[in-house]
Amino acid sequence: MKVIINNIEYEGLPGETLMELAKRNKVNIPNLCHKEGFEGQGRCRLCMVEAREGNKTKIVSACVYPIHDGLEVNTDSEKIRAMRKNIILLLLLKTPNNEYIKKLAEEYDVKAPERYMDFSINENCILCGLCVKACEKMGTSAISLVNRGTGKKVSTPFDDPSKDCIGCGACAQVCPTNAITMTEANGVRTIWNKEFKMVQCSICNKHYTTEEALDFIESRLGNEEEKVCDTCRKKIISEKFKESYKNIFGQP
Ligand code: SF4
Repeated sequence: MKVIINNIEYEGLPGETLMELAKRNKVNIPNLCHKEGFEGQGRCRLCMVEAREGNKTKIVSACVYPIHDGLEVNTDSEKIRAMRKNIILLLLLKTPNNEYIKKLAEEYDVKAPERYMDFSINENCILCGLCVKACEKMGTSAISLVNRGTGKKVSTPFDDPSKDCIGCGACAQVCPTNAITMTEANGVRTIWNKEFKMVQCSICNKHYTTEEALDFIESRLGNEEEKVCDTCRKKIISEKFKESYKNIFGQP
């Protein structure tokens, strides 16, 4: 199916969203809450684009908009640029000290009037919901979006250390604004007000995950996991690959 983005024709795949098609073809559509492996959420609204349907155009969120044959899209029209700037301005007012949002504002030349900027606000979360999705995908659902209006935030039930949290850190890894504090010291990881004893890699001795996360994975896979960190695991795979290459083709 043919889709035109900014006057260039692309071949879309059935079931793809506009964002997926754009990413596959390296067309930049700014976004905060889209991540590969996650369904679009349409939360941050930064990925709004102008889609033409017949003689009319409409504003849609690229991350949740399914493509169809003949779709024409403008990702950078005057209208879109103005709307995007407004969204960034609101994010800047909400998280005035966040480095990522400050950089984004700079990139799009967004300046908030000084009288509206309150630098005493210590907020980094833009409520994109990615962390909640990541936790859901892990199968633990230890955190969720709670409260309404200005009190809306991501938290564990009643802000208490959650019995369901396994300290895997998936939430912190996906957060686009680095809003989740996860610290590690002396073999202990602290996240969401809960401390976790960490497991050491059997090869390099680095602390790499929590005991609870490892138990959780083992219970899901039904077998005991080797205690090996990602870096060492990659090294082992690479060595094995080199070895089989040598066996098949001789010395490289
Ligand atoms: S903590 Fe991060 S990932 Fe979670 S909602 Fe806030 S900005 Fe999004």
